[in-house]
Amino acid sequence: RTPGAGVPVTPAPVTVLAGPTAVGKGTVSAAIRARYPEIWLSVSATTRAPRPGERDGVHYYFLDEDEFTRLVEDGQMLEWAVVHGRHRYGTPRGPVDEAVAAGRPVLLEIDLAGARQVRETLPDSRFVFLAPPDWDTLVERLVGRGTESEEERERRLATARIELAAEAEFDVTIVNDTVDRASAQLAALMGVGHLT
Ligand code: 5GP
Repeated sequence: RTPGAGVPVTPAPVTVLAGPTAVGKGTVSAAIRARYPEIWLSVSATTRAPRPGERDGVHYYFLDEDEFTRLVEDGQMLEWAVVHGRHRYGTPRGPVDEAVAAGRPVLLEIDLAGARQVRETLPDSRFVFLAPPDWDTLVERLVGRGTESEEERERRLATARIELAAEAEFDVTIVNDTVDRASAQLAALMGVGHLT
């Protein structure tokens, strides 16, 4: 890294967006998908079931356990992780390579464990940490629904605290104060659109 540098000027071929649970990575990447069609957003594979409105090949590639295992064993996953102790999620390598070769700015929206693997597999990537405006806002977003037990809430907050400490591993931090601002900053970082 350049000492004292702020926002880097040269876009990297691949940008990795990660951050703590409930910070709004999904919302920011949905905004990117809608507003900046130049950006190629990777479609992850997952073993979880589709939610209403989710389409195979658009939001995720929905795979069964055997299909997912086969891709991992064939070396076709750039990274993969078990997220929230439940289902497997991974980034298929082929489409990312093709998008990079085509000169598209590529965005991966993945969890922290996945981001650490991409540091090994694609070290030229730029790593962007999406941060909450402050701790209280993250707590509100995490517990806002009020449906979790006290124990579950404590567990999530403890995880969020550990995840927030990962910020130091990243090249750039974007604060998710509003989706518009965060997505515009991310696009600008990728050499797309303009900062307003
Ligand atoms: P959801 O099930 O709500 O769509 O996603 C849950 C979590 O999985 C999110 O935190 C998201 O960042 C993570 N995730 C989605 N796709 C991938 C992926 O390809 N790799 C990794 N490591 N995590 C992913």
